[in-house]
Formats: sequence, structure tokens, C-alpha cells
Amino acid sequence: DTLIVTHDISKIYRMGTETIHALKSVSIKISKGEYVAFMGPSGSGKSTFMNIIGCLDTPTGGTYILNGNDVSNMTDNELAEVRNKEIGFVFQTFNLLPRQTSLENVALPLIYAGYGKSDREEKAQRALESVGLGTRGKHKPNELSGGQRQRVAIARALINNPSIILADEPTGNLDSKTSYEIMELFEDLHAKGNTIIMVTHEEDIAKYAHRIIRMRDGLIESDTINEDIATAT
Ligand code: ADP
Ligand code: ADP
Repeated sequence: DTLIVTHDISKIYRMGTETIHALKSVSIKISKGEYVAFMGPSGSGKSTFMNIIGCLDTPTGGTYILNGNDVSNMTDNELAEVRNKEIGFVFQTFNLLPRQTSLENVALPLIYAGYGKSDREEKAQRALESVGLGTRGKHKPNELSGGQRQRVAIARALINNPSIILADEPTGNLDSKTSYEIMELFEDLHAKGNTIIMVTHEEDIAKYAHRIIRMRDGLIESDTINEDIATAT
């Protein structure tokens, strides 16, 4: 069941007279339920590609089919609609609103989706419970540990049942013990059928994924199945 197909994706940034070929030709296929890690040196095009996969930006050339829809040439408004429906974002810096409680942060996407207050609170509470934070709904981000903040962000990413969880360096601000706890949570989400795509610099984190795609100079250098995990599950 194919979720993502990119064909010959390129991205060119123009800065004055300089042109930067951030992506040269990237063709991949990702099925529903896959757990994929993108790796590669700084400047290899990971963020650029994630921005395209996450419908935050469009390619200069090539096509991107998401869930059967060609999203390569959409307007910003169309892209925003697809993004809100299909993608749950998790960031290195959590990106929570500091003055809002965990429950309010998690419920935020539901406001845009048009849910009423009591529905929002009920759904957000269930999402917090699903990441092990059922008793922390009234806490604000600064009253939570880093790992708990990332769990709140993950609950927020999950709240609209997105097709893809897109995580950019999700453990980049966490100590190693907390990082592994977040990876266990991702493993649970993957076991429940969620599709997870993450970017990481850390081999120890990437090895939790079932497929590892390495980028270099705007191209895919390798695309391998993680045999250890694939045979264990
Ligand atoms: P990473 O994803 O590797 O943690 P970034 O995506 O923030 O890092 O940056 C990767 C490279 O892209 C850096 O060399 C940075 O200077 C460059 N870069 C990121 N955004 C821009 C931008 N808006 N304009 C120019 N260069 C950028
Ligand atoms: P990575 O995430 O792997 O570090 P990026 O996708 O951020 O790589 O960057 C790929 C290349 O594109 C780099 O040469 C970077 O400097 C350039 N780049 C990234 N974003 C921009 C931007 N907004 N404007 C101009 N150049 C950019």
C-alpha cells in the first residue's frame, strides 16, 4: 500500500547569482506503515527533502505523489490543507507554546480542524494518555522534563490521525536514556500501524528504524532494510 512516491525530485535555491542544487534527483517509494530514517552529512539535502515530503515546500522539478494525490504543483493554500490532514510534525526543539498547558498544546490542531471545546479536551486527554502523560495535562512545558515535552509534541502530532509522522532530529535535545524512551514510543506507534519518517544524525537512533536511507550531495547514496529489526518482527 504505497503512501509516498517521489520521481526525480530536484530543488534549486537561487541566492543572488548563486544557484544551489540542494536536491538533484531523488526518487523513492514509501509504503504505509514503514518506519524510515534519513541520514547523511549536514548540507546533503535532508531538510530540503523533508520540507517537500511534509508539504512545507514544493520541488523545483519532478513529481511527488502523496496518498494518490499529486502535490508537486499545489498552491500554498492547497498544500497547507494537505499538510494539516496528512502530516504530524515532531521537532528537535519540541515547538510547544510556552503559556499553554500540555492539554491545550495537544488540542491546538483540533481548533483548526473545527472541533468544539469538550471534544477537543477529550481527544487531547486520550492522546496524552497514549504517550503516558495522562496525569500531566495541566502542566505547562517548563513544568515538564525534555522527554515529557517531546511526548506532548508527539501527542499533538498524532491528534489528527495523520498518514505520516515526520520527525526532524526528535532526540536532538534529549539525553541518551530519554532518547531511547522516545524511540520505544515510536516503536509502539509503528507497531500500531503508524508510518514514521525521521531524520537523525545518530546511528544509535537510526537503528530503531526498519529502513535507513542515506543522502549525500542531493542524492540518495543508499537505501537499506535494517535486517536486525526486520527479522526480529
Ligand atoms: P540540519 O538539518 O543539518 O541540522 P539545517 O537544515 O539547519 O541543518 O542547515 C543545513 C545547512 O543548510 C546549513 O549549512 C545551513 O547554513 C543551510 N541552510 C539552512 N537554511 C538555509 C537558508 N534559509 N538559507 C541558506 N542556507 C540555509
Ligand atoms: P541537510 O538537512 O542535509 O543539512 P539542507 O537540505 O538543509 O541539508 O541543505 C541542502 C543544501 O541546500 C545546502 O547546501 C544548504 O546550504 C542549501 N539550502 C538549504 N535551504 C536553503 C535555503 N532556504 N536557501 C538557500 N539554500 C538553502
